[in-house]
Amino acid sequence: MSNRTFTMIKPDATSKGYTGAILDQIIKAGFSVKAMKWIHLSPAQAGQFYEVHKERPFYGELVEFMSSGPIVAAILEKDNAVADFRTLIGATNPAQAEEGTIRKKFAASIGENAVHGSDSDDNAKIEGDFFFSGLERF
Ligand code: GDP
Repeated sequence: MSNRTFTMIKPDATSKGYTGAILDQIIKAGFSVKAMKWIHLSPAQAGQFYEVHKERPFYGELVEFMSSGPIVAAILEKDNAVADFRTLIGATNPAQAEEGTIRKKFAASIGENAVHGSDSDDNAKIEGDFFFSGLERF
Protein backbone atom coordinates (compact mmCIF):
# COMPACT_ATOMS: atom_id res chain seq x y z
CA MET A 1 0.00 0.00 0.00
CA SER A 2 1.25 3.48 -0.87
CA ASN A 3 1.06 6.17 1.78
CA ARG A 4 0.51 9.00 -0.69
CA THR A 5 -2.47 10.53 -2.39
CA PHE A 6 -3.07 13.46 -4.72
CA THR A 7 -5.58 16.28 -4.26
CA MET A 8 -6.81 19.42 -5.95
CA ILE A 9 -8.75 22.24 -4.35
CA LYS A 10 -11.07 23.03 -7.25
CA PRO A 11 -11.93 26.45 -8.76
CA ASP A 12 -15.28 26.77 -6.92
CA ALA A 13 -13.49 26.49 -3.56
CA THR A 14 -10.49 28.71 -4.39
CA SER A 15 -12.81 31.45 -5.76
CA LYS A 16 -14.98 31.39 -2.63
CA GLY A 17 -11.94 31.83 -0.37
CA TYR A 18 -12.08 28.31 1.12
CA THR A 19 -8.47 27.33 0.33
CA GLY A 20 -7.08 28.07 3.80
CA ALA A 21 -9.92 26.36 5.66
CA ILE A 22 -9.70 23.26 3.47
CA LEU A 23 -5.90 22.99 3.85
CA ASP A 24 -6.32 23.43 7.61
CA GLN A 25 -8.79 20.54 7.75
CA ILE A 26 -6.48 18.34 5.64
CA ILE A 27 -3.44 19.03 7.84
CA LYS A 28 -5.41 18.60 11.09
CA ALA A 29 -6.56 15.21 9.78
CA GLY A 30 -2.91 14.11 9.80
CA PHE A 31 -1.83 14.56 6.18
CA SER A 32 1.53 16.14 5.45
CA VAL A 33 2.15 18.13 2.27
CA LYS A 34 4.89 16.67 0.06
CA ALA A 35 4.32 18.97 -2.95
CA MET A 36 2.00 21.87 -3.65
CA LYS A 37 1.26 24.40 -6.39
CA TRP A 38 -1.30 27.09 -7.24
CA ILE A 39 -2.04 26.79 -10.94
CA HIS A 40 -4.67 27.79 -13.51
CA LEU A 41 -5.15 24.89 -15.96
CA SER A 42 -5.89 25.53 -19.62
CA PRO A 43 -8.88 23.64 -21.08
CA ALA A 44 -6.42 21.34 -22.88
CA GLN A 45 -4.58 20.54 -19.63
CA ALA A 46 -7.83 19.92 -17.72
CA GLY A 47 -9.03 17.73 -20.60
CA GLN A 48 -5.84 15.70 -20.45
CA PHE A 49 -6.05 15.24 -16.67
CA TYR A 50 -9.65 13.99 -16.92
CA GLU A 51 -9.06 11.93 -20.09
CA VAL A 52 -10.42 8.81 -18.29
CA HIS A 53 -13.83 10.50 -18.11
CA LYS A 54 -13.86 11.41 -21.81
CA GLU A 55 -16.88 9.25 -22.62
CA ARG A 56 -18.97 10.47 -19.68
CA PRO A 57 -21.77 12.97 -20.42
CA PHE A 58 -20.38 15.60 -18.05
CA TYR A 59 -16.82 15.60 -19.49
CA GLY A 60 -17.24 18.93 -21.31
CA GLU A 61 -18.72 20.63 -18.25
CA LEU A 62 -15.99 19.17 -16.06
CA VAL A 63 -13.19 20.43 -18.31
CA GLU A 64 -14.77 23.89 -18.55
CA PHE A 65 -15.20 24.06 -14.77
CA MET A 66 -11.69 22.83 -13.94
CA SER A 67 -10.14 25.44 -16.26
CA SER A 68 -12.42 28.28 -15.07
CA GLY A 69 -10.07 29.48 -12.32
CA PRO A 70 -7.03 28.58 -10.27
CA ILE A 71 -6.67 25.36 -8.32
CA VAL A 72 -4.29 24.14 -5.63
CA ALA A 73 -2.71 20.79 -6.51
CA ALA A 74 -0.89 18.79 -3.84
CA ILE A 75 0.67 15.44 -2.98
CA LEU A 76 -0.24 14.34 0.55
CA GLU A 77 1.27 11.70 2.81
CA LYS A 78 -0.31 9.68 5.61
CA ASP A 79 -0.74 5.98 6.42
CA ASN A 80 -3.58 4.63 4.25
CA ALA A 81 -3.63 8.00 2.45
CA VAL A 82 -5.94 7.20 -0.50
CA ALA A 83 -8.77 5.67 1.53
CA ASP A 84 -8.47 8.05 4.49
CA PHE A 85 -8.53 11.07 2.19
CA ARG A 86 -11.64 9.81 0.38
CA THR A 87 -13.29 9.49 3.81
CA LEU A 88 -12.20 13.02 4.74
CA ILE A 89 -13.65 14.58 1.56
CA GLY A 90 -16.92 12.61 1.48
CA ALA A 91 -19.15 11.48 -1.39
CA THR A 92 -18.86 12.98 -4.89
CA ASN A 93 -22.29 14.56 -4.48
CA PRO A 94 -22.13 16.85 -1.41
CA ALA A 95 -25.83 16.20 -0.76
CA GLN A 96 -24.82 12.60 0.03
CA ALA A 97 -21.61 13.42 1.89
CA GLU A 98 -21.29 12.71 5.63
CA GLU A 99 -21.54 15.63 8.06
CA GLY A 100 -18.16 17.23 8.72
CA THR A 101 -16.57 16.09 5.46
CA ILE A 102 -14.89 18.68 3.24
CA ARG A 103 -17.44 18.31 0.46
CA LYS A 104 -20.37 18.57 2.89
CA LYS A 105 -18.92 21.79 4.31
CA PHE A 106 -17.56 23.47 1.20
CA ALA A 107 -19.10 21.98 -1.97
CA ALA A 108 -22.14 23.27 -3.83
CA SER A 109 -23.01 20.47 -6.26
CA ILE A 110 -21.91 17.13 -7.74
CA GLY A 111 -19.92 18.98 -10.41
CA GLU A 112 -18.54 21.86 -8.35
CA ASN A 113 -17.51 19.72 -5.42
CA ALA A 114 -14.58 21.65 -3.89
CA VAL A 115 -11.89 18.95 -3.88
CA HIS A 116 -10.45 16.03 -5.80
CA GLY A 117 -9.01 12.94 -4.14
CA SER A 118 -7.35 10.05 -5.99
CA ASP A 119 -9.34 6.82 -6.01
CA SER A 120 -6.42 4.35 -6.00
CA ASP A 121 -2.69 4.15 -5.31
CA ASP A 122 -2.01 3.81 -9.05
CA ASN A 123 -4.03 6.92 -9.87
CA ALA A 124 -2.43 8.86 -7.02
CA LYS A 125 0.96 8.22 -8.66
CA ILE A 126 -0.27 9.06 -12.18
CA GLU A 127 -1.99 12.26 -11.00
CA GLY A 128 0.92 13.44 -8.86
CA ASP A 129 3.27 12.85 -11.79
CA PHE A 130 0.97 14.90 -14.04
CA PHE A 131 1.55 18.01 -11.91
CA PHE A 132 4.94 17.62 -10.23
CA SER A 133 8.50 16.94 -11.35
CA GLY A 134 10.96 15.17 -9.08
CA LEU A 135 12.40 18.58 -8.09
CA GLU A 136 9.03 19.82 -6.88
CA ARG A 137 8.35 17.11 -4.32
CA PHE A 138 10.15 15.52 -1.42
P1 GDP B 1 -14.80 11.59 -7.54
O1 GDP B 1 -13.81 10.46 -7.64
O2 GDP B 1 -15.57 11.60 -6.24
O3 GDP B 1 -14.19 12.95 -7.83
O4 GDP B 1 -15.92 11.35 -8.67
P2 GDP B 1 -15.85 10.83 -10.18
O5 GDP B 1 -14.52 10.21 -10.49
O6 GDP B 1 -17.09 10.02 -10.42
O7 GDP B 1 -16.01 12.16 -11.06
C1 GDP B 1 -14.94 13.04 -11.24
C2 GDP B 1 -15.43 14.47 -11.12
O8 GDP B 1 -16.35 14.73 -12.19
C3 GDP B 1 -16.26 14.77 -9.86
O9 GDP B 1 -15.47 15.06 -8.74
C4 GDP B 1 -17.06 15.97 -10.29
O10 GDP B 1 -16.30 17.19 -10.25
C5 GDP B 1 -17.35 15.64 -11.75
N1 GDP B 1 -18.67 15.00 -11.89
C6 GDP B 1 -19.06 13.77 -11.49
N2 GDP B 1 -20.33 13.53 -11.78
C7 GDP B 1 -20.79 14.66 -12.39
C8 GDP B 1 -22.05 15.05 -12.93
O11 GDP B 1 -23.04 14.30 -12.91
N3 GDP B 1 -22.13 16.32 -13.49
C9 GDP B 1 -21.06 17.16 -13.53
N4 GDP B 1 -21.19 18.38 -14.08
N5 GDP B 1 -19.85 16.82 -13.02
C10 GDP B 1 -19.72 15.59 -12.46
